[in-house]
Amino acid sequence: MGATGSIGTQTLDVLRREPEQFSLVAVSAGSSVEHLAAIISEFHVPLAAVATDADREALRALASNEVEVLVGESGLRALCHEADIVVNAVVGFAGLPVTLATLEAGKTLALANKESLIAAAPLVEMVRHRGGTILPVDSEHCAIHQCLVGEAAASRPEVRRLLLTASGGPFRNYSAEQLSRVTREDALQHPTWAMGPKITVDSSTLMNKGLEVLEASALFDIAVDRIDVVVHPQSIVHSMVEYVDGSVLAQLSSPDMRLPIAYCLGYPRRLPHGWGALDFTQTLSLEFFPPDRQNFPALDLAYDAARRGGAAPAWLSAANEVAVEAFLEGRIAWRDIVPVVATTLEAYSDVVLNSLEELVSEDATARRIAHDTLPA
Ligand code: NAD
Ligand code: MG
Repeated sequence: MGATGSIGTQTLDVLRREPEQFSLVAVSAGSSVEHLAAIISEFHVPLAAVATDADREALRALASNEVEVLVGESGLRALCHEADIVVNAVVGFAGLPVTLATLEAGKTLALANKESLIAAAPLVEMVRHRGGTILPVDSEHCAIHQCLVGEAAASRPEVRRLLLTASGGPFRNYSAEQLSRVTREDALQHPTWAMGPKITVDSSTLMNKGLEVLEASALFDIAVDRIDVVVHPQSIVHSMVEYVDGSVLAQLSSPDMRLPIAYCLGYPRRLPHGWGALDFTQTLSLEFFPPDRQNFPALDLAYDAARRGGAAPAWLSAANEVAVEAFLEGRIAWRDIVPVVATTLEAYSDVVLNSLEELVSEDATARRIAHDTLPA
């Protein structure tokens, strides 16, 4: 799902190398109908979902007659029942139907779409018992999954803490004064990863790492106070697990998302393609620094939201989506993104999330307040 994006196209790359093992039974995209039609014809995909009726007509005109095209959220949900493994590569809260429908159907969810898990963690917990499994595509969480050596829960007493690594983004070591002048183009230049625009901006504010702290807490059932962030500019160590005896286990590879995608598709087997393999005949330097929490307050906002629980993580993520979209459209400055999120969260009062309807309503409220908060 989200086949035309950065994770989606890299997933297709993995499938091209494994034509015997996997067949692509359904695809979706939010737009880019031409790209979707090309994927459908290359992989002979029988089923697709698009966002609107107009996209459906456009896709029907481009793709073969054999493909069945569904529309909207119900279309996304229906697709999830067709596969053994669903890769959720949709961006933002729009990925929620994919996460929930896949788990409700008891299927394996290869999760890139962190926003859905962060917003819906209590609901995901409720549907997980239906036999569905989440495997993390996000490189840090995939690394932790590997360092836990197959154990799903990090809450067990042998684990002291999880250490999430962060590249630090393009503005690492910038002063507050330098940060006040950065542009859209600057923010879209990630030093180590090529990704979609939203997550690239999130990486520049360190909100991505804050979201990943929440993601790790939900995935591995561990309190955020046992999750720390370490800046590691080389993006070779993708994250670490510290055990109570002092041992730290890490997963290392060059930054290439095809490795975690292939890990999830092959699990528990490993696919023999060597994406991201390191060359130890060359000098390799690894550095680690504490994050700059002063200039990058998004990190502590995420920790605060985690401690508040309820719908606070959903509010954080929704407000961030609104702010990042406004930044990408040139309506606000980079320095305004995180303050919009902080101000929105000031309006949050505690709610317990018991249903999808409540979550959708909280998401809408947070978005409305975030819109009202955007500087003119
Ligand atoms: P992207 O913007 O490149 O692609 C997003 C995909 O989602 C596209 O196919 C788009 O058509 C689809 N989409 C957008 N809005 C939609 C909607 N309303 N309904 C249905 N589909 C919609 O994004 P990306 O960088 O591939 O990121 C996807 C997800 O994976 C994000 O949650 C991101 O945080 C996460 N992630 C990405 C990377 C990476 O390397 N790109 C790494 C880790 C995690
Ligand atoms: Mg990540």
